[in-house]
Formats: sequence, C-alpha cells, structure tokens
Amino acid sequence: MRSYTLTAPAKINLYLEIIGDRPDGYHELVMILQSIDLADTIEVQAGNTGAIRLCCTHPQVPLDKSNIGYRAAELMAAKFPAAYDNYGGVDITIHKRIPVAAGLAGGSTNAAAVLVGMNLLWNLGLTRSELEELGALLGSDVPFCIGGGTAIATGRGEQLSPLPGLDNMYIVLAKHRSLEVSTPWAYKTYRAAYGETYLKDTESLTARATAVHSGPMVQAIVHKNAREIGQKLHNDLEQVVLPEYPQVLRLREVFANAGVLGTMMSGSGPSVFGLCEYEEIAKQVQVRVIEAMANEDLELFVTRTISHGIQIGSSV
Ligand code: ATP
Repeated sequence: MRSYTLTAPAKINLYLEIIGDRPDGYHELVMILQSIDLADTIEVQAGNTGAIRLCCTHPQVPLDKSNIGYRAAELMAAKFPAAYDNYGGVDITIHKRIPVAAGLAGGSTNAAAVLVGMNLLWNLGLTRSELEELGALLGSDVPFCIGGGTAIATGRGEQLSPLPGLDNMYIVLAKHRSLEVSTPWAYKTYRAAYGETYLKDTESLTARATAVHSGPMVQAIVHKNAREIGQKLHNDLEQVVLPEYPQVLRLREVFANAGVLGTMMSGSGPSVFGLCEYEEIAKQVQVRVIEAMANEDLELFVTRTISHGIQIGSSV
C-alpha cells in the first residue's frame, strides 16, 4: 500500500487533578480522558522526495518541525532509517476540523495518527503498546490518542488504564474562535498559586488521589450513570484560567444554565463542554448557547463520546 487515510479524534477531560511536581518539570496528574466524535483526517503517503513533507491549510497549524505530526514522522524516520529510505520519505496531509490550541489534544491526535499510519505504510508491525511508548516521547496525550475511548491517565498523563467505554453521550462543545490559552502558562500559574499545598510523595499520592478523588467519577463511568458523570466533572486548571479569561468564565456560566447534566473546561482550555444524555437536548443546549453568546465568535459543535482512538479509513 502507498497511502493510508486515518481519522484522528479529539479528546475532552472528564477529570483533571494536579497532585504534585515531578523532577522532569512536568506535573503529576490524575486525568480521565474521553474521545469524542470530532476528528481530523490525516493522509500518510509514501514520499517521492526522500524527505518528510507536511501539508495543512489551517492558518494556525505550523508546517515545520514545530508541528507535532512532523515530529512524529521524524521520530519514525530516526527509529527506522531503512524503511525511511526504502519508501522515499513520507508525505503527510492534515485536514483540520478540531479547533487549534483548544485543550482538545488536536496536535497530539495528529501525531498519534502519523505513528499509526507510518507503522502500516512501512509494514513495521509495531504493537499498540510499542506505538504508545513512541507516542510518550512526543507528548503526554499522544499515547491516549492512539487507542482512545475512556481511560484514566496518571504520571504526566502517559500512563493509561482503560475504563469501560462511554458510547453515545452527547457533548456540546464551544470555543472562542480567536482565543488561545497556553498550556505551559496554565500549569505554571497553577503551580505558583497552589504549589505549596502539594504533598511531595507523589507515588503514594497518585494512588491515593486515584482512589479517593477521582474514585466517584470512575464509579459513575463504570455504572454509565450520565447524571453522576455530569456532577463529578472536575478540572483543577479552571481555578487559574477562569479568573484570567472572563470569556471562558462566561461560557461556563452559559452552559451551566443551558440544561446540561454538567459542564467543564477541557484541559487547559479555552474549550468548554456540556454533557447531555440525549441528542435532542444537546441540540436545544446548542441553540441556548448561540442565543446567549450572540455577539461572540464561537466554534460550536454537537458531538458524542466514542470508544476508539485512531481509525484507518481507507488505503490505496
Ligand atoms: P493539548 O490538549 O494536547 O494540550 P491543545 O488542543 O491545547 O493540545 P493543539 O491544538 O495541539 O492544542 O495546539 C497547540 C499548539 O501546537 C498550537 O499553538 C499549534 O500552533 C501547535 N501545533 C503543532 N502541531 C499541531 C497540529 N498538528 N495541530 C494543531 N496544532 C499544532
């Protein structure tokens, strides 16, 4: 095969708790990640220039080494130089639908798709856990994006334990089109404000936080209790992002009054989502958000939870 087309879904955070510092400069996290049916399409083709070429028409997406999809291809080329030469490099095309810099893992899921696509294209036979190990070298969310679904993520987010899949819960998702929140800024500000309260023994703390704090959310997911899931949504980063970004705070308030089971900012924002049990309700919520935010330039989606990550669409 000379070409593969893959779908690369976004994620939301149903739960994000920061529980400590790490010697590598990252934070020790407990997150519950959920794939949603809002996806980019990635084409991975054998090249004919002997190089890595990347194409994407979205104005906010870089085309050089600062694109995480490009770095995924570089990593594969460095690990498998013979395949890189044999196949004449690689051409990657990204069709962007996921809002950029939105807390939805848009870049991470592109990198995951490049790893999966190049594994197929170059006939490498890497297993999912081998791909996840490579993904962890690129970014904390990349391993999750490969398999997707519903998972609890610890460490800096790369250590995954699957949870029972949550199919067909409806998600109304909104983001101010031109607003970006820097992920490093959000974590740095959280650390400056709340770092003193961390316990330093992160290993036992991770176990405790997983059991005690995220436990009720895990139970709600296991029982597929949408109402409980809505009530247990949590994101520590809201404490620093909402006071600094009144637009995000306003969106959170609008969602809270729009008839959802629960609402939360995803990742470091600025996306905010509302959870609904039925599509009809989700569409009503969408209308209420549009009405309440009539003067704002929003990207707005009604989507649903899915139980998979990267999928192979077609091959030529
Ligand atoms: P995460 O939730 O993993 O922190 P995010 O959804 O907040 O990610 P991205 O959409 O990945 O954010 O974009 C973050 C930054 O990365 C942007 O400033 C963007 O220019 C850059 N970037 C690099 N590669 C990509 C890519 N393939 N797709 C989108 N953005 C990318």
